[in-house]
Amino acid sequence: MDTNWMAHGLCAHEDPAIFFPSDGVGVIKAQRICRQCPKQEHCLEYAVTNKIDHGVWGGESERARRRLIRKRNVIAAKAASKAARKAAKIGTEVSVDLAVEAPADAATDHESLTSVD
Ligand code: SF4
Repeated sequence: MDTNWMAHGLCAHEDPAIFFPSDGVGVIKAQRICRQCPKQEHCLEYAVTNKIDHGVWGGESERARRRLIRKRNVIAAKAASKAARKAAKIGTEVSVDLAVEAPADAATDHESLTSVD
């Protein structure tokens, strides 16, 4: 994953400890800097994608990122479930189509192939 954006984040010129606060006041201080950062989106996506547990990334606290990951997981699960239902429905429709399109003498042909005279 590309990390070149990190050199262009505002935190590159700040004390790294600011982004690993120990309390809510520290989180707010870091978030104020992140809100001005041109790389905020990249940073948040990087932290979420890589499941980074500690620190303020992309202007979001650890707790907020965990919430975002859970929300994305729910959305992905719903999409997968919907896709599975759609695939099952298409499979049913294909089966019905095949039955309808089978030649009228298909049963006769089958019988002639399996019958023993
Ligand atoms: S959003 Fe915050 S933590 Fe991320 S690069 Fe910018 S200043 Fe740094």
